[in-house]
Amino acid sequence: MQVGFYGHVRQYHNIKSEIDANIAKVLESGEYVHGPMNKQFEKEFAAFSGMKYAIPCGNGTDAIWLTLMALGIGPGDEVITHANTFFATAEAIWIAGATAVLVDCDSKTKCIDPAQIEAAITARTRCLLPVHLYGQCADMPAIKKIADQHKLWVVEDNAQGVDAAGDTFKVGELSNAVATSFISQKNLGCFGDGGAIVTNNEHVNQITRLLRAHGSPARNVHSFGFNSRLDDLQAGVLSAKLKHLHAWNDERIKWAARYSAGLRDAKSIDLPYAKPGYRHVWHLYVIEVKNPAKRDSLLEFLNKNGIDAKTHYSIAIHQQAGFPWGKGARVVGALTNVEKNAACCVSLPMFPELTADEVDYVISKVMEWDKANG
Ligand SMILES: *Cc1c(COP(=O)(O)O)cnc(C)c1O
Repeated sequence: MQVGFYGHVRQYHNIKSEIDANIAKVLESGEYVHGPMNKQFEKEFAAFSGMKYAIPCGNGTDAIWLTLMALGIGPGDEVITHANTFFATAEAIWIAGATAVLVDCDSKTKCIDPAQIEAAITARTRCLLPVHLYGQCADMPAIKKIADQHKLWVVEDNAQGVDAAGDTFKVGELSNAVATSFISQKNLGCFGDGGAIVTNNEHVNQITRLLRAHGSPARNVHSFGFNSRLDDLQAGVLSAKLKHLHAWNDERIKWAARYSAGLRDAKSIDLPYAKPGYRHVWHLYVIEVKNPAKRDSLLEFLNKNGIDAKTHYSIAIHQQAGFPWGKGARVVGALTNVEKNAACCVSLPMFPELTADEVDYVISKVMEWDKANG
């Protein structure tokens, strides 16, 4: 059996008529950039997020740095995040001209460890940038408390967790702004690149809106800006998909539960931890091989058996030799949990359109490997 890592084409086929209708609508309207479809999706996404404003932009990386820039963060400033995230989190800080300060993650959730934040705060710290990693919210109440004490901004990197929630809080409630990505493989993915900022903050709304489109508040009037627009074909795709997102995430939750039940007795691996009461939307289902020396053996065994397993992220940001170290980033403390995760992680196929047979096949192969290696 072949089990892919993504279900893009299955998803398209499942709602083909709705997507095709929106694409045709955009093509017939003749307005392909910041036209009516863009405005429609903007409204729908703000409502879905429970926030006043959504500002669509070119991609998730831009969503982060446009927000940082709108908050006045730049050269000489420090932004604290953790090192086991997609590279773009730190990259966006560097693009804004600030320094990424990388700390350890929590051993169980893999999200930023609030206890590590305090030690990393200096007179230059301006902002905390937690990531809702793999689709599970970071400990926002603890993060907000630290931010309030030290008068820091909080921006949430929610590229992986659209429709996720905490036990007592929603995404966006305990921060100044939220950045997300709509690249195809994300839970809400378009047919290419896309991103958005959602916020209740008037200033962030106004300034990111200007920055993303040549600093132009009106025709022929320009201040300082860039080009980071979401085109209307992608907005049409996203508008069609948004209606299904919650149900699709419910499917991910169902498959995660099936994996966790099926792999419960494995001796050689640790299963992902889901915080009680949180809505974890399982962008990724990441197991850890207890013995790092055997991680690649499991990965190769699954790949050889037709299962497209991957790693997220086997080279942590502080282990990237090519990153502009020095002004670009620095590390605070021992990144023990981050390094363990990089050495031990294996991501199993996770998308709403999986079938029970496929999930059971993946489980049977992991268990077969476990028997021989446990
Ligand atoms: C995907 C992702 C991004 C960047 O999104 P792009 O749309 O690829 O620029 C940023 N942060 C995290 C955690 C991501 O997973």
